[in-house]
Amino acid sequence: MAHTPLYEATDEDRSNWPQVVIVGGGFAGISAARRLSKERVVVTIVDRHNFHTFLPLLYQVATAGLEPADVAYPIRTIFGNAKNVRFRHGFVRRIDQVERLVILDDGARIAYDHVIVATGATASFFDIPGARRYALPLYSLADARALRNRLLLALEEADVAGERASVALNFVVVGGGPTGVETAGALSELIDIVIRRDGLRLDGDTARVRLVDLAPRLLTSFPESAASYAKRELERMGVDVEFGRSVVEVEERAIRFADGERLEAVAVIWAAGLTATGTLTDDLSTTSGPGGRAMVGADLAVVGCVNVWCAGDGAAIPDGAGQYCPQLAPVAIQSGRHCAAQISRVLAGEATQPFHYRDKGIMATIGRRAAVAKLPHLGVIRGTTGWLAWLGLHLWYLVGFRNRLRVMINWTWRYFDWPSGPRLIVADAETAE
Ligand SMILES: Cc1cc2nc3c(=O)[nH]c(=O)nc-3n(C[C@H](O)[C@H](O)[C@H](O)COP(=O)(O)OP(=O)(O)OC[C@H]3O[C@@H](n4cnc5c(N)ncnc54)[C@H](O)[C@@H]3O)c2cc1C
Repeated sequence: MAHTPLYEATDEDRSNWPQVVIVGGGFAGISAARRLSKERVVVTIVDRHNFHTFLPLLYQVATAGLEPADVAYPIRTIFGNAKNVRFRHGFVRRIDQVERLVILDDGARIAYDHVIVATGATASFFDIPGARRYALPLYSLADARALRNRLLLALEEADVAGERASVALNFVVVGGGPTGVETAGALSELIDIVIRRDGLRLDGDTARVRLVDLAPRLLTSFPESAASYAKRELERMGVDVEFGRSVVEVEERAIRFADGERLEAVAVIWAAGLTATGTLTDDLSTTSGPGGRAMVGADLAVVGCVNVWCAGDGAAIPDGAGQYCPQLAPVAIQSGRHCAAQISRVLAGEATQPFHYRDKGIMATIGRRAAVAKLPHLGVIRGTTGWLAWLGLHLWYLVGFRNRLRVMINWTWRYFDWPSGPRLIVADAETAE
């Protein structure tokens, strides 16, 4: 029997369609929902935030380069035209696989025929004393805002202290991966701007950005040449890069290392790693994967579960070579889309297919006109070309035309060294009224 076209379906038609619940409106959840919006299913996206966050640009919000609204987009707006996609704001506590219910913190229960868990990961503090309490992670918009407040407050306090300041103004970034490198570079640019343009009474030599890592080099997922370039660029910008530094404790205004050094620090920024332990994926199946990720089969169905799928950072996705796919945006986008396609196949009575990750490369920006990119077929690109590639790709993937336009204007402004950026201390309860 011929179906009525999707756009002509009524609410009554839809009430008989299979129910797919997607937990998480990040890269994986959104791409799954986009794919399913073209199918005869009803999709409910549940997220604790009513917006999708473009995590790769969070560090620019944290260092006052972009506004929070530039990197976030309401999930309801993304699917405004899709009648079969709904949004439910809330925190999912657990999934009842016997009754096939998604159970929310507020007691609500949403029935599903298929569920995609796309809850991502969170910062890992490796049980280092004080790290969870005092270090500042960068994994959500709220983290970025809290970090921006702390950085700007520290700079204003230093201005008030002026000549009387006796302590060095250390900003310590822990972790030399892409997030650590990007944050350290942007922070050093922020300090330069507030001294040169905003007239803060700071001594550029006492305000130090220190990037520390246990590893012997930066950007371990990039080739050595890219890592040395990033180090050179950061040092040129005045960042101290220190390797082999093992953090043993974080205090309210200090950090301690295994070699006994205790460094006073106005902010310790935590970019040291991520984990899915403690998130929804952690107790999905009886076999927990590395870092709390859910073990999934080749088709991305969660091992040992029925009609439960997992995509993105929360899934331990086999890469076909005995390892797992990296926790990156392109993996999340492709795996989300793949889960959606498999659900359609199952509903149509077809066999599922294995997931194959198409490597899109990796990138990290260091500062204005300096970035590194490792691209399939093209190898390593760096300098201004790398930076332009980085800009183009991030603009392309940013959700929402207005966001793209605003970010492009902001970056163009900064490129010509005009002071821009929301250097506003928007007070949190902990900081002020
Ligand atoms: C600072 C930073 C920079 C990054 N830079 C890059 C980069 O340059 N390039 C790159 O490729 N990758 C980068 N990544 C990694 C990339 O962002 C992730 O791989 C990607 O976001 C994973 O997508 P996801 O959908 O699995 O999870 P996320 O994007 O984290 O989305 C998970 C969603 O689930 C929601 N959620 C979680 N738990 C619950 C719950 N119990 N109930 C309801 N909702 C819940 C969250 O609110 C969130 O919206 C970066 C990550 C970070 C943190």
